[in-house]
Amino acid sequence: MTATTYPHLFSPLDLGFCTLPNRVLMGSMHTGLEDRSRDFPKLAAYFRERAEGGVGLIVTGGVSPNLVGWLKPFAAKLSWPWEIHKHRIVTKAVHDAGGRICLQILHAGRYGYHPLTVSASALQAPINPFKPRGLSAWGVERQIKAYVNCARLAREAGYDGVEVMGSEGYLINQFLSARTNKRSDAWGGTPEKRMRFAVEIVRRIREQVGKDFILIYRLSMAELVPEGTAWDEIVQQAKAIEAAGATIINTGIGWHEARVPTIATSVPRAAFAGVTAKLKPHVSLPLVATNRINMPEVAERILAAGQADMISMARPLLADPLWVKKARSGRTNEINTCIACNQACLDHAFENKIASCLVNPRACAETELNYTKTNAPKKIAVVGAGPAGLACASVAAGRGHRVTLFEASAEIGGQFNLAKKIPGKEEFQETVRYFGTQLVLHAVEQRLGQRITAAELITGGFDEIVLATGIVPRKVGFPGADHPKVCSYVDVLNGTVRTGNKVALIGAGGIGFDVAEFLVQDAPSPSVDISRWMAEWGVRADFEGPGALTKPAPEAPERQVWLLQRSTGKPGAKLGKTTGWIHRAALKAKQVQTLSGVEYLGVDDAGLRIRVQDKEQLLAVDSIVICAGQEPLRALVDGLKAAGKSPHLIGGADVATELDAKRAIDQGSRLAAGF
Ligand code: FAD
Ligand code: NAP
Ligand code: SF4
Repeated sequence: MTATTYPHLFSPLDLGFCTLPNRVLMGSMHTGLEDRSRDFPKLAAYFRERAEGGVGLIVTGGVSPNLVGWLKPFAAKLSWPWEIHKHRIVTKAVHDAGGRICLQILHAGRYGYHPLTVSASALQAPINPFKPRGLSAWGVERQIKAYVNCARLAREAGYDGVEVMGSEGYLINQFLSARTNKRSDAWGGTPEKRMRFAVEIVRRIREQVGKDFILIYRLSMAELVPEGTAWDEIVQQAKAIEAAGATIINTGIGWHEARVPTIATSVPRAAFAGVTAKLKPHVSLPLVATNRINMPEVAERILAAGQADMISMARPLLADPLWVKKARSGRTNEINTCIACNQACLDHAFENKIASCLVNPRACAETELNYTKTNAPKKIAVVGAGPAGLACASVAAGRGHRVTLFEASAEIGGQFNLAKKIPGKEEFQETVRYFGTQLVLHAVEQRLGQRITAAELITGGFDEIVLATGIVPRKVGFPGADHPKVCSYVDVLNGTVRTGNKVALIGAGGIGFDVAEFLVQDAPSPSVDISRWMAEWGVRADFEGPGALTKPAPEAPERQVWLLQRSTGKPGAKLGKTTGWIHRAALKAKQVQTLSGVEYLGVDDAGLRIRVQDKEQLLAVDSIVICAGQEPLRALVDGLKAAGKSPHLIGGADVATELDAKRAIDQGSRLAAGF
């Protein structure tokens, strides 16, 4: 295969004053590295790898044009000449690598997590405890000047352009939308007046920076909030932004306060490309499609269909800095695909941690975690081909070690082979595919279908033994736990057991939630069918109407499910920071009943007997599925230690509590980096 596999993706884009080599735009993503001056060398290394990987145009994480526009206290800001210096490290690194980079100007408005926030009107956002101050007319002028000043400084810092963040519910959006702009002066009251703020910013930036500077405007094309802007007005905004001097319009989907998922793994690939396509006939500048586009064939299809002129990918380039190079040379199988889990990127951003990537722990750690070639190859045994073992074996072999990977089952993947069966988690198969390719590329000897024993490892002549044997599901001790109605989540997900129509789940952790989603959804998941998914979440397929919303119409559940936990408090409270609400909403839509503070009294032919708040109840269920957590599987440790070996334990075999694939892959990769 050659570059012609994706001819549209790899055709240059002429912007008049410069030509981009391909149609890949690395979308803006907050990494946390942009917030502190001392992290700029790390930020530069992170962007350099993406530029070397061939990305056509990079956009930085959001940088505020002034103090009141901060996302949080001391977040990234560019408003003074002395703040330019650190940005030059970034722009030089990208230019040295042959890339181009734009600075995203993001004024948080009422989404700022601090007491200085301002907005079009003094209306508090439902997701922020801080109430903004409504701007005076003079204050509005000051914000516009701050944007223009920031763009000027960006040019001085060596950026090739700026992206003006006009979507996701930030300040510009707050002016644009009647939902948040209640003004009756020159900046509100009619659609024309509400859009004046955005238009003035673009017009005056263009006037300031001249013609040969990229000016991307991120336009909110589907707000997905009640009273959101309707389509006709969005078209009007796009035309005005084009006339004001933008070079490119990027697509923004949903406000942060929207109750529709927009980038989670359960969102179908390219779910929102249709809205960019809908705008195409109305403007003549290049349009960028975005959200859940993670593989080259999806990007190519959008471009070939004329739905957009460029493709924005943010997280996929966190997952694989060489995405573009691999796609261009037809090595699609080698791409480390973003599975849209949000666990190490967006969740970290919201937890004030530096972002990384579940499938690529090197993301944002390029200066400290390196997989350099070894001068002293070792013979290494890795036992278990779950995420921990796969990462360890791939990295160790990639560095030049001789690795044998033992796996008891007939296929690699470990628990990911169960995870990928959950509706909306189909992407997890991509990680298994990626590691499978890596094993072959780096000549890892794969011994599948072999439950290796300690004796075999001891006589194998290995320099290092890594135990990545994972977990065993925790057993429960209540009366009747061995009743035929009772089974483990493993039996349900691998198809050994088919439950009845009424099911109780013991345990409401991540796996309890996932199994509930599996049980209420027998048919293929809506996450692979855009129109069914839109109906489920109440998004209008024609993107018309206020906020492009309609009444959600979830499909009827396949089963009646109870999800139980012993502890009090909201079930699912420990689920992902940015995705937990989606799982809770999805189960609510399928009428799953959640119960906290449950005491399990026992199982008999009638069902599951429980006590809640001193009241005994019988849940007359056909099946009881145990999802009560996991214990480490360390069957080989004692035998190895008795023979004087010191095995390395990683993933679930090391610590099963609060284990996730992020920790498993990180631990496996870091161990292998040190061999
Ligand atoms: P495992 O994946 O358990 O792999 C261990 C492997 O070792 C197995 O393949 C086993 O067969 C093999 N093995 C054991 N003993 C031997 C032996 N003696 N010889 C040879 N082979 C042996 N995590 C997330 O981060 N995000 C999610 O969204 C998520 N969703 C999940 C959904 C479900 C339904 C499930 C079940 C898990 C999910 N997880 C998720 C958890 C994630 O899959 C685990 O954290 C991860 O798989 C742990 O990796 P591991 O390599 O330590 O162990
Ligand atoms: P978990 O999150 O630890 O949840 C276990 C559940 O079982 C809890 O609800 C617990 O609540 C209950 N429980 C524990 N001991 C019990 C006992 N003896 N009897 C009855 N109930 C008991 O574990 P998990 O759901 O198995 O998930 C395993 C790991 O996979 C998690 O650490 C998670 O990070 C990961 N995972 C992540 C995702 C994700 O979306 N990020 C999805 C799936 C899995 P009570 O003690 O209150 O009853
Ligand atoms: Fe994608 Fe998950 Fe990595 Fe974020 S952490 S970039 S969502 S794979």
